[in-house]
Amino acid sequence: MKQTIYEPAREVPVYDQCDVLVVGGGPAGVTAAVAARNSGAGRVVLLERYAHLGGMATGGQVLLIPFLSDPTLNGGREQLVAGLMDEWIGRLRACPNGAFGPEKEETGSGDPAVLAKYRSHTLFIRNERIMYGVNCDPEMLKVVLNDMTEAAGVVVYCHCLGCRAIVEDGRAAGVIFESKEGRKAVLAQVVIDCTGDGDVFATAGAEFESSSLSTARTAKTSLVFRLGGVSYERYAQGLRDMPDAGKRLRKAAEIAGYPMQLISSNRDGVVWVDSLIPRDCMTIAGLTDTAFLTTRTVNRLIAYLRESFPGLEDAYLYDFASQVGVRGSRRLKGVERFTMDYLGARTGREDIVAVLPTVNGREAYPRMEMPYGILVPEKLDGLLAAGRCFSSSEEANQEANWIPHCIALGQAAGTAAALAVRTGVQPRSVDVKRLRSALREQGVYL
Ligand SMILES: Cc1cc2nc3c(=O)[nH]c(=O)nc-3n(C[C@H](O)[C@H](O)[C@H](O)COP(=O)(O)OP(=O)(O)OC[C@H]3O[C@@H](n4cnc5c(N)ncnc54)[C@H](O)[C@@H]3O)c2cc1C
Repeated sequence: MKQTIYEPAREVPVYDQCDVLVVGGGPAGVTAAVAARNSGAGRVVLLERYAHLGGMATGGQVLLIPFLSDPTLNGGREQLVAGLMDEWIGRLRACPNGAFGPEKEETGSGDPAVLAKYRSHTLFIRNERIMYGVNCDPEMLKVVLNDMTEAAGVVVYCHCLGCRAIVEDGRAAGVIFESKEGRKAVLAQVVIDCTGDGDVFATAGAEFESSSLSTARTAKTSLVFRLGGVSYERYAQGLRDMPDAGKRLRKAAEIAGYPMQLISSNRDGVVWVDSLIPRDCMTIAGLTDTAFLTTRTVNRLIAYLRESFPGLEDAYLYDFASQVGVRGSRRLKGVERFTMDYLGARTGREDIVAVLPTVNGREAYPRMEMPYGILVPEKLDGLLAAGRCFSSSEEANQEANWIPHCIALGQAAGTAAALAVRTGVQPRSVDVKRLRSALREQGVYL
């Protein structure tokens, strides 16, 4: 077999030209694009490889957005994630069954009647207090995110795979993408890489780190699926009552071939099955294997769940996520590197652009403060990276790449990109004081 073939060079038509180009329409990308428009960028283009926006939150069926309040402040009522995260949730709640979870007024409550409503949905309760969060409907979220980008005037191109950054004089100047119409280019003043995998900065020649800790959450892939015909309340009660519940769950994982967890959803009678499958998400074999391992064992797994757990007697396969779930892959080498030192640390720094809850507690100061420099490449100009591929150690990334965190970083990146365009500077030279005041005006908690 030949080892390589020669692909002839060719002229690529310029399909569009804009102020800000966002590549990847997941939580970070949608937010970055909307924030850029809301912050005064003229033409904002969002390239997405699939037919829907939302990334893992829709196509990956990651339904849960937890920990949106601070249990230690203001009687546990302090809402930490605001800004466009609030708009996501508000729009979802306005749709029939768009989201399930505590109301804002219930946040911080220790009222037994309120706690009882969410008792089986444990991520909404910490230290016997309600924490704000939602179980989203992934299909309705597709509707909401299309509406949000349309309302903001973002130009969205679907089924367009960004495949190569265009770099001119040390500056990212756009992206070449592959589409049904062939290979084309979008030129931009600022490009924001929100592909999750850092596809843009990697092809731009920016330095990055790769996933390496095999025990890390970020090194695990999934093909999430949902089960119908379930009574989640009875299942959750069963887990509390059955002395051998742990043993049964371990057996289920053995049958499946991977650790997994059943988590409540917004739909009555439906749960999602979240899994942790250690595969390399940057290889064809890794992604394919995750999908096929899941389908190969799913029927045996369902049969075992039906016979072993109350509430699952009538469980059946409801649907699969349309894409393999990836928690972490390439991470930019930025001007700053987010490390474990930021978790629970009150920095007092003047360049913090996102303040978010820590997911695993840290009671003294259960927050993390994220500086602007984690979005900015060490050397390359014209580019920002937001979402799970931000500059970070792998350990810290897995604590900080949840949906709210990606949304907050997207909002910071989009706002910064618009400011860079409006003031005629490179993203690395944006006036961070102005950026922070623009974010505060958008309702971002800093
Ligand atoms: C199984 C699983 C369970 C999880 N559980 C939770 C949870 O309970 N709660 C929580 O908050 N977080 C959870 N996470 C993490 C969270 O879902 C992700 O960290 C988050 O979605 C990352 O957002 P993002 O925008 O950076 O990337 P993504 O969500 O990956 O979005 C990237 C987007 O870019 C598009 N794209 C990629 N490459 C290209 C390209 N080259 N050209 C064009 N478009 C491209 C993709 O199609 C996608 O739309 C989970 C993740 C997984 C996989």
